[in-house]
Amino acid sequence: MISIEQAFQLLAQTITPLPVESTSLANLVGHVLAVDVIADVNSPPHDKSVMDGYAVRSADVATGLKRLEVVETIIAGDSPACVLGSGQSAKIMTGAQIPEGADAVVMVEQTESECAGGRQWVTLNIESLAAEKHVLRCGINFRKGQTVFTKGHVVRPTDIGLLAEVGAHVVDVANKPTVAVLPTGNELVDCASVPARGQIRNSNGPMLIAMARSLGLSVTDLGVGRDDLAALGEKISGGLDHDLLILSGGVSAGTMDLVPGILKELGVREVFHKVFVKPGKPIWFGVLGRGDRQTCVFGLPGNPVSSLVGFQLFVRAAIRRQMGGRLDDCQAVFGELSLPHETRGDRPTYWPASCVSDSTSVRKFKPLVWRGSSDLLALGDADGLIYFSADSSHHPAGELVKFLPFD
Ligand code: AMP
Ligand code: MG
Repeated sequence: MISIEQAFQLLAQTITPLPVESTSLANLVGHVLAVDVIADVNSPPHDKSVMDGYAVRSADVATGLKRLEVVETIIAGDSPACVLGSGQSAKIMTGAQIPEGADAVVMVEQTESECAGGRQWVTLNIESLAAEKHVLRCGINFRKGQTVFTKGHVVRPTDIGLLAEVGAHVVDVANKPTVAVLPTGNELVDCASVPARGQIRNSNGPMLIAMARSLGLSVTDLGVGRDDLAALGEKISGGLDHDLLILSGGVSAGTMDLVPGILKELGVREVFHKVFVKPGKPIWFGVLGRGDRQTCVFGLPGNPVSSLVGFQLFVRAAIRRQMGGRLDDCQAVFGELSLPHETRGDRPTYWPASCVSDSTSVRKFKPLVWRGSSDLLALGDADGLIYFSADSSHHPAGELVKFLPFD
């Protein structure tokens, strides 16, 4: 049986990123940049005022000249017409371009204006004025030609403003995978039904669909597959025209665990089956070539928490790789155990946990009461999973642990 690390290596070696396509800004969130993004403008693009007030020459104020003629009014979007000489000022609005000759702005609240002799005047109610006051110089934030995002960056909603500012209205990114979800099992009934004896509600289907959709992916719900060779084979082959097919159930060693056999029969090449991890050991992964694309197939174990952990640990990483990103374990973070904890068994374990905030700056994780792979109750309070290596079963409070957050 392979280790978690070997499983990651195999995913990295096997999965080819999806084709790159120019994608419009409105659709970029969640994509991995296939190119560096270079600024095509300076930011700000001109010397500008950050206040409503009067653009002046600070040297005038230094010599005691505080009653100035107002020679122009400049609003945002205007191009100044005048070059300010000594004794002159320009009324200016926030964001407007500083006229040549001026090197500071006095806030309107610190001025009095008047009309005298058919001309506009302003008196500055200030003692002194530093050069550059309330002036934002061209290019101070970033300069034309500067790299503002590097290839591999995952676009977040908060990045969209900067991308718009630098004119990145279309950007090259790898496609997002199309996903199909197919839970399997004769015992499964829809969550709207009351299970009869021996039946169980299909938790995995809606959960896997929701987790994939939360990554911004388009997901096809293939319904439920029954444990029957012909019927299940047909359902599975219907999912193989997607970039990613996620199955649950039927991958263990029981006589009704038909999924691995059917997948092989349909030409999907097995890359690994079974990983030394708890929960989720029976996980199956394989690939099928489809012209210039590839279908990745995961068979997750049926117990809901096994499916959840398999998705969070491996499927998410595979999706990231399909989108051209690095295959890491999806931004694991480190912190301290808030409570002592005992693990059982010889496998590395992912344990549901919540983040604890207290008055210290140390990140802490609290292992939750959890009864194993069928127990979803603990997941209601969980923010992620703590990783416990197989080296030791006793974990004191304060131990440094790795945590895999859900988002
Ligand atoms: P399997 O991996 O098919 O042997 O299933 C293992 C356990 O998970 C069994 O107790 C199943 O009833 C349960 N199970 C399988 N699929 C689902 C599902 N979609 N939703 C909830 N429980 C499931
Ligand atoms: Mg089953």
